[in-house]
Amino acid sequence: MSKLKYDIVVVGAGNAALCAAIAAAEQSVSVLVLERAPKQARGGNSYFTDGAIRFAYKNLDQIREILPELTETRAAQCDLGSYTEENYLETLINLSQGKIDRDLARTLVSSSYQTIQWMHQQGVKFALLDRNQAFKSKGRYHFWGGLILKAVGRGVGSIESLFARAVDLGIEVWYETRAIGLIKNTQGQISGIKIKRGQKTLTLETAAVILASGGFELPWDGEISSGKRLLRGRSWSGVDKISKVEVSLDNGRNWQLARLRQPNLSQAWVRWDLEWNARPGHYQLLARATDSQGNRQPDLVPFNQKGYLY
Ligand SMILES: Cc1cc2nc3c(=O)[nH]c(=O)nc-3n(C[C@H](O)[C@H](O)[C@H](O)COP(=O)(O)OP(=O)(O)OC[C@H]3O[C@@H](n4cnc5c(N)ncnc54)[C@H](O)[C@@H]3O)c2cc1C
Repeated sequence: MSKLKYDIVVVGAGNAALCAAIAAAEQSVSVLVLERAPKQARGGNSYFTDGAIRFAYKNLDQIREILPELTETRAAQCDLGSYTEENYLETLINLSQGKIDRDLARTLVSSSYQTIQWMHQQGVKFALLDRNQAFKSKGRYHFWGGLILKAVGRGVGSIESLFARAVDLGIEVWYETRAIGLIKNTQGQISGIKIKRGQKTLTLETAAVILASGGFELPWDGEISSGKRLLRGRSWSGVDKISKVEVSLDNGRNWQLARLRQPNLSQAWVRWDLEWNARPGHYQLLARATDSQGNRQPDLVPFNQKGYLY
Protein backbone atom coordinates (compact mmCIF):
# COMPACT_ATOMS: atom_id res chain seq x y z
CA MET A 1 0.00 0.00 0.00
CA SER A 2 1.24 3.54 -0.78
CA LYS A 3 2.64 5.64 2.04
CA LEU A 4 0.76 8.72 3.15
CA LYS A 5 3.79 10.66 4.42
CA TYR A 6 6.60 12.18 2.28
CA ASP A 7 9.33 14.76 2.90
CA ILE A 8 8.43 16.57 -0.32
CA VAL A 9 5.39 16.39 -2.59
CA VAL A 10 5.72 17.80 -6.11
CA VAL A 11 2.56 18.71 -8.00
CA GLY A 12 2.77 18.09 -11.77
CA ALA A 13 5.00 15.95 -13.96
CA GLY A 14 6.25 18.39 -16.59
CA ASN A 15 9.79 19.73 -16.96
CA ALA A 16 9.69 21.98 -13.88
CA ALA A 17 8.22 19.30 -11.63
CA LEU A 18 10.59 16.55 -12.72
CA CYS A 19 13.64 18.79 -12.29
CA ALA A 20 12.43 19.78 -8.81
CA ALA A 21 11.69 16.16 -7.85
CA ILE A 22 15.10 14.94 -9.06
CA ALA A 23 16.92 17.78 -7.27
CA ALA A 24 15.04 16.92 -4.07
CA ALA A 25 15.67 13.17 -4.37
CA GLU A 26 19.40 13.88 -4.81
CA GLN A 27 19.27 15.16 -1.21
CA SER A 28 18.10 11.70 -0.06
CA VAL A 29 14.64 12.81 0.99
CA SER A 30 11.42 10.94 0.14
CA VAL A 31 9.69 12.50 -2.86
CA LEU A 32 6.25 11.93 -4.33
CA VAL A 33 5.14 13.36 -7.69
CA LEU A 34 1.41 13.87 -8.30
CA GLU A 35 0.18 14.04 -11.87
CA ARG A 36 -3.44 14.53 -12.80
CA ALA A 37 -3.05 13.01 -16.26
CA PRO A 38 -2.91 9.26 -16.93
CA LYS A 39 0.57 7.78 -17.41
CA GLN A 40 0.30 7.64 -21.20
CA ALA A 41 -0.37 11.41 -21.35
CA ARG A 42 2.29 12.47 -18.84
CA GLY A 43 4.71 15.32 -19.38
CA GLY A 44 2.37 18.32 -19.45
CA ASN A 45 2.95 21.10 -21.98
CA SER A 46 6.66 20.30 -21.72
CA TYR A 47 6.07 17.11 -23.72
CA PHE A 48 4.86 19.07 -26.75
CA THR A 49 7.56 21.73 -26.88
CA ASP A 50 10.33 22.02 -29.38
CA GLY A 51 12.70 21.55 -26.44
CA ALA A 52 14.45 24.86 -27.17
CA ILE A 53 16.00 26.15 -23.98
CA ARG A 54 17.43 29.56 -23.16
CA PHE A 55 20.42 30.14 -20.90
CA ALA A 56 23.28 32.59 -20.51
CA TYR A 57 26.69 31.55 -21.84
CA LYS A 58 30.00 33.27 -22.44
CA ASN A 59 31.88 31.20 -24.97
CA LEU A 60 32.35 27.97 -26.90
CA ASP A 61 34.13 26.24 -24.02
CA GLN A 62 30.99 26.49 -21.92
CA ILE A 63 28.91 25.05 -24.77
CA ARG A 64 31.33 22.14 -25.18
CA GLU A 65 30.66 21.10 -21.59
CA ILE A 66 27.01 20.46 -22.36
CA LEU A 67 27.60 19.41 -25.97
CA PRO A 68 30.60 17.07 -25.76
CA GLU A 69 29.74 15.62 -29.20
CA LEU A 70 30.51 18.97 -30.86
CA THR A 71 33.43 18.28 -33.19
CA GLU A 72 36.15 20.79 -34.10
CA THR A 73 34.88 20.85 -37.71
CA ARG A 74 31.29 21.53 -36.67
CA ALA A 75 32.35 24.15 -34.13
CA ALA A 76 34.37 25.93 -36.80
CA GLN A 77 31.20 26.17 -38.97
CA CYS A 78 29.21 27.87 -36.20
CA ASP A 79 29.17 31.42 -34.99
CA LEU A 80 27.52 30.94 -31.59
CA GLY A 81 28.59 34.30 -30.18
CA SER A 82 27.70 34.80 -26.56
CA TYR A 83 24.51 35.52 -24.61
CA THR A 84 25.46 37.14 -21.35
CA GLU A 85 23.45 37.28 -18.14
CA GLU A 86 22.83 40.96 -18.92
CA ASN A 87 21.49 40.04 -22.38
CA TYR A 88 19.17 37.44 -20.86
CA LEU A 89 17.88 39.84 -18.20
CA GLU A 90 17.29 42.48 -20.88
CA THR A 91 15.29 39.93 -22.93
CA LEU A 92 13.06 39.19 -19.93
CA ILE A 93 12.54 42.86 -19.11
CA ASN A 94 11.71 43.73 -22.72
CA LEU A 95 9.35 40.80 -23.22
CA SER A 96 7.46 41.54 -20.02
CA GLN A 97 7.47 45.29 -20.76
CA GLY A 98 9.23 45.79 -17.44
CA LYS A 99 6.64 43.90 -15.43
CA ILE A 100 8.89 40.99 -14.44
CA ASP A 101 9.93 40.47 -10.81
CA ARG A 102 13.60 41.55 -11.05
CA ASP A 103 14.82 39.44 -8.12
CA LEU A 104 13.28 36.26 -9.53
CA ALA A 105 14.54 37.12 -13.00
CA ARG A 106 18.11 37.60 -11.69
CA THR A 107 17.96 34.22 -9.95
CA LEU A 108 16.74 32.56 -13.13
CA VAL A 109 19.40 34.24 -15.25
CA SER A 110 22.37 33.76 -12.94
CA SER A 111 21.57 30.06 -12.42
CA SER A 112 20.63 29.37 -16.04
CA TYR A 113 23.95 27.95 -17.25
CA GLN A 114 24.43 25.69 -14.25
CA THR A 115 20.82 24.50 -14.60
CA ILE A 116 21.47 23.33 -18.15
CA GLN A 117 24.71 21.70 -17.01
CA TRP A 118 22.75 19.96 -14.25
CA MET A 119 20.04 18.80 -16.70
CA HIS A 120 22.78 17.40 -18.92
CA GLN A 121 24.20 15.49 -15.94
CA GLN A 122 20.70 14.07 -15.33
CA GLY A 123 20.73 12.56 -18.83
CA VAL A 124 19.06 15.23 -20.98
CA LYS A 125 20.97 15.44 -24.26
CA PHE A 126 21.21 18.69 -26.18
CA ALA A 127 21.83 19.60 -29.82
CA LEU A 128 22.45 22.82 -31.72
CA LEU A 129 19.28 24.64 -32.73
CA ASP A 130 20.62 25.32 -36.20
CA ARG A 131 17.36 24.65 -38.08
CA ASN A 132 15.34 27.53 -36.71
CA GLN A 133 17.76 29.77 -34.79
CA ALA A 134 20.59 30.16 -37.30
CA PHE A 135 21.08 31.28 -40.86
CA LYS A 136 23.84 30.09 -43.16
CA SER A 137 26.08 32.63 -44.80
CA LYS A 138 29.44 31.98 -46.53
CA GLY A 139 29.47 28.40 -45.27
CA ARG A 140 28.94 29.30 -41.59
CA TYR A 141 25.89 29.08 -39.34
CA HIS A 142 25.19 32.37 -37.57
CA PHE A 143 23.01 31.93 -34.50
CA TRP A 144 20.69 34.70 -33.42
CA GLY A 145 18.40 35.51 -30.50
CA GLY A 146 20.57 33.91 -27.81
CA LEU A 147 18.80 30.59 -28.23
CA ILE A 148 21.28 27.99 -29.43
CA LEU A 149 20.30 24.62 -27.95
CA LYS A 150 17.37 22.28 -27.88
CA ALA A 151 16.85 18.92 -26.23
CA VAL A 152 17.51 15.95 -28.50
CA GLY A 153 14.08 14.48 -29.34
CA ARG A 154 12.48 17.88 -28.48
CA GLY A 155 10.20 18.07 -25.42
CA VAL A 156 9.48 14.33 -25.66
CA GLY A 157 13.21 13.51 -25.45
CA SER A 158 13.77 15.78 -22.50
CA ILE A 159 10.74 14.47 -20.57
CA GLU A 160 11.68 10.84 -21.23
CA SER A 161 15.25 11.42 -19.99
CA LEU A 162 13.97 13.11 -16.83
CA PHE A 163 11.48 10.29 -16.15
CA ALA A 164 14.28 7.73 -16.62
CA ARG A 165 16.38 9.58 -14.03
CA ALA A 166 13.40 9.84 -11.67
CA VAL A 167 12.90 6.06 -11.90
CA ASP A 168 16.63 5.51 -11.15
CA LEU A 169 16.29 7.64 -8.06
CA GLY A 170 13.22 5.70 -6.92
CA ILE A 171 10.86 8.68 -7.12
CA GLU A 172 7.22 7.62 -6.82
CA VAL A 173 4.73 9.07 -9.30
CA TRP A 174 0.99 8.85 -8.75
CA TYR A 175 -0.95 9.34 -11.97
CA GLU A 176 -4.58 10.40 -12.29
CA THR A 177 -4.09 12.15 -8.98
CA ARG A 178 -4.99 15.80 -8.54
CA ALA A 179 -3.77 18.16 -5.85
CA ILE A 180 -6.84 19.99 -4.58
CA GLY A 181 -5.67 21.89 -1.49
CA LEU A 182 -2.78 22.77 0.77
CA ILE A 183 -2.95 22.08 4.49
CA LYS A 184 -1.23 24.37 6.97
CA ASN A 185 -0.52 23.99 10.68
CA THR A 186 -1.40 26.60 13.31
CA GLN A 187 1.86 28.49 12.57
CA GLY A 188 0.82 28.80 8.94
CA GLN A 189 3.44 26.29 7.73
CA ILE A 190 2.67 23.60 5.18
CA SER A 191 1.87 20.33 6.90
CA GLY A 192 0.09 18.39 4.18
CA ILE A 193 -1.73 18.30 0.89
CA LYS A 194 -5.23 17.24 -0.03
CA ILE A 195 -5.52 15.11 -3.15
CA LYS A 196 -8.11 13.39 -5.28
CA ARG A 197 -6.95 9.96 -6.43
CA GLY A 198 -9.55 8.28 -8.59
CA GLN A 199 -12.77 8.73 -6.65
CA LYS A 200 -10.99 8.98 -3.29
CA THR A 201 -10.07 12.17 -1.45
CA LEU A 202 -6.92 11.67 0.65
CA THR A 203 -4.66 13.74 2.84
CA LEU A 204 -0.89 13.32 2.65
CA GLU A 205 1.45 14.46 5.38
CA THR A 206 4.43 16.50 4.13
CA ALA A 207 6.61 19.39 5.23
CA ALA A 208 6.99 20.83 1.74
CA VAL A 209 4.94 21.07 -1.43
CA ILE A 210 6.41 22.23 -4.73
CA LEU A 211 3.72 23.51 -7.06
CA ALA A 212 4.91 22.87 -10.61
CA SER A 213 1.50 22.40 -12.14
CA GLY A 214 2.17 24.65 -15.14
CA GLY A 215 0.55 27.94 -15.86
CA PHE A 216 0.69 28.28 -19.58
CA GLU A 217 -3.02 28.97 -19.71
CA LEU A 218 -5.86 29.65 -17.29
CA PRO A 219 -6.76 26.43 -15.49
CA TRP A 220 -9.87 24.64 -16.71
CA ASP A 221 -12.94 26.31 -15.34
CA GLY A 222 -10.85 29.46 -14.87
CA GLU A 223 -12.38 32.64 -13.52
CA ILE A 224 -11.75 36.24 -14.54
CA SER A 225 -13.42 39.43 -13.39
CA SER A 226 -16.14 40.93 -15.59
CA GLY A 227 -15.60 44.08 -17.64
CA LYS A 228 -13.56 44.94 -20.71
CA ARG A 229 -11.09 42.16 -21.44
CA LEU A 230 -8.69 41.53 -24.28
CA LEU A 231 -8.65 37.89 -25.35
CA ARG A 232 -5.28 37.10 -26.84
CA GLY A 233 -3.83 34.09 -28.59
CA ARG A 234 -1.38 32.76 -31.14
CA SER A 235 -2.12 30.60 -34.15
CA TRP A 236 0.11 28.68 -36.50
CA SER A 237 -0.12 26.60 -39.62
CA GLY A 238 2.59 24.24 -40.82
CA VAL A 239 2.02 25.04 -44.51
CA ASP A 240 1.06 28.69 -44.94
CA LYS A 241 0.16 31.89 -43.18
CA ILE A 242 -2.99 32.30 -41.12
CA SER A 243 -5.81 34.05 -43.00
CA LYS A 244 -8.33 34.29 -40.16
CA VAL A 245 -8.94 33.38 -36.56
CA GLU A 246 -12.47 33.03 -35.21
CA VAL A 247 -13.44 33.05 -31.56
CA SER A 248 -16.61 31.67 -30.00
CA LEU A 249 -17.83 32.67 -26.56
CA ASP A 250 -20.66 30.11 -26.50
CA ASN A 251 -19.00 26.77 -27.18
CA GLY A 252 -19.12 27.01 -30.97
CA ARG A 253 -22.66 28.27 -31.64
CA ASN A 254 -21.57 31.73 -32.81
CA TRP A 255 -18.17 32.87 -34.06
CA GLN A 256 -16.58 36.28 -34.43
CA LEU A 257 -13.40 37.34 -36.19
CA ALA A 258 -10.35 38.14 -34.11
CA ARG A 259 -7.91 40.87 -35.18
CA LEU A 260 -4.66 39.50 -36.62
CA ARG A 261 -1.51 41.34 -35.61
CA GLN A 262 1.54 41.89 -37.78
CA PRO A 263 3.84 40.29 -38.72
CA ASN A 264 1.84 37.44 -40.20
CA LEU A 265 4.28 35.19 -42.00
CA SER A 266 3.98 31.77 -43.60
CA GLN A 267 4.57 28.95 -41.06
CA ALA A 268 5.14 31.39 -38.19
CA TRP A 269 2.95 32.03 -35.16
CA VAL A 270 0.66 35.01 -35.62
CA ARG A 271 -0.66 36.99 -32.66
CA TRP A 272 -4.37 37.75 -32.51
CA ASP A 273 -6.76 39.40 -30.11
CA LEU A 274 -10.42 40.19 -29.58
CA GLU A 275 -12.03 42.80 -27.36
CA TRP A 276 -14.67 41.29 -25.10
CA ASN A 277 -16.98 43.13 -22.76
CA ALA A 278 -17.43 40.24 -20.35
CA ARG A 279 -20.67 40.19 -18.38
CA PRO A 280 -21.02 37.93 -15.33
CA GLY A 281 -21.86 34.36 -16.32
CA HIS A 282 -20.45 31.10 -17.61
CA TYR A 283 -18.78 31.00 -21.00
CA GLN A 284 -17.08 28.33 -23.05
CA LEU A 285 -14.43 29.94 -25.19
CA LEU A 286 -13.10 28.36 -28.37
CA ALA A 287 -10.75 29.60 -31.07
CA ARG A 288 -10.13 28.22 -34.54
CA ALA A 289 -7.64 29.35 -37.14
CA THR A 290 -7.80 28.94 -40.91
CA ASP A 291 -4.71 29.22 -43.10
CA SER A 292 -4.39 30.78 -46.56
CA GLN A 293 -4.85 27.36 -48.18
CA GLY A 294 -8.22 26.95 -46.46
CA ASN A 295 -7.09 24.41 -43.85
CA ARG A 296 -9.16 24.91 -40.72
CA GLN A 297 -8.15 23.82 -37.25
CA PRO A 298 -10.13 20.68 -36.36
CA ASP A 299 -12.58 20.71 -33.46
CA LEU A 300 -10.80 17.84 -31.76
CA VAL A 301 -7.22 16.62 -31.96
CA PRO A 302 -6.59 13.07 -30.82
CA PHE A 303 -3.60 12.60 -28.50
CA ASN A 304 -0.53 11.94 -30.63
CA GLN A 305 3.17 11.52 -30.01
CA LYS A 306 4.23 14.57 -31.96
CA GLY A 307 1.84 17.13 -30.48
CA TYR A 308 1.36 20.15 -32.70
CA LEU A 309 4.01 18.83 -35.11
CA TYR A 310 1.97 15.85 -36.32
C1 LIG B 1 3.18 24.05 -28.60
C2 LIG B 1 4.11 24.59 -27.56
C3 LIG B 1 5.48 24.69 -27.85
C4 LIG B 1 6.36 25.20 -26.89
N1 LIG B 1 7.72 25.24 -27.17
C5 LIG B 1 8.59 25.64 -26.23
C6 LIG B 1 10.01 25.57 -26.43
O1 LIG B 1 10.50 25.10 -27.46
N2 LIG B 1 10.82 25.98 -25.44
C7 LIG B 1 10.30 26.44 -24.24
O2 LIG B 1 11.11 26.82 -23.37
N3 LIG B 1 8.98 26.51 -24.01
C8 LIG B 1 8.10 26.12 -24.95
N4 LIG B 1 6.75 26.16 -24.69
C9 LIG B 1 6.30 26.63 -23.36
C10 LIG B 1 6.46 25.43 -22.39
O3 LIG B 1 5.58 24.39 -22.80
C11 LIG B 1 6.09 25.75 -20.95
O4 LIG B 1 6.66 26.95 -20.55
C12 LIG B 1 6.64 24.62 -20.07
O5 LIG B 1 6.28 23.35 -20.60
C13 LIG B 1 6.11 24.74 -18.67
O6 LIG B 1 6.60 23.60 -17.95
P1 LIG B 1 5.97 23.21 -16.57
O7 LIG B 1 6.69 22.02 -16.07
O8 LIG B 1 5.92 24.43 -15.71
O9 LIG B 1 4.44 22.87 -16.91
P2 LIG B 1 3.80 21.66 -17.73
O10 LIG B 1 4.79 20.98 -18.62
O11 LIG B 1 2.55 22.15 -18.37
O12 LIG B 1 3.43 20.62 -16.57
C14 LIG B 1 2.43 20.87 -15.63
C15 LIG B 1 1.89 19.51 -15.19
O13 LIG B 1 1.07 19.69 -14.03
C16 LIG B 1 -0.07 18.84 -14.14
N5 LIG B 1 -1.09 19.40 -13.25
C17 LIG B 1 -1.79 20.55 -13.39
N6 LIG B 1 -2.61 20.75 -12.34
C18 LIG B 1 -2.42 19.68 -11.51
C19 LIG B 1 -2.98 19.31 -10.25
N7 LIG B 1 -3.89 20.07 -9.61
N8 LIG B 1 -2.58 18.14 -9.67
C20 LIG B 1 -1.64 17.34 -10.29
N9 LIG B 1 -1.08 17.65 -11.49
C21 LIG B 1 -1.46 18.82 -12.08
C22 LIG B 1 -0.42 18.89 -15.61
O14 LIG B 1 -1.22 17.77 -15.99
C23 LIG B 1 0.99 18.87 -16.25
O15 LIG B 1 1.45 17.55 -16.49
C24 LIG B 1 5.85 25.65 -25.63
C25 LIG B 1 4.48 25.53 -25.35
C26 LIG B 1 3.61 25.00 -26.29
C27 LIG B 1 2.15 24.85 -25.95
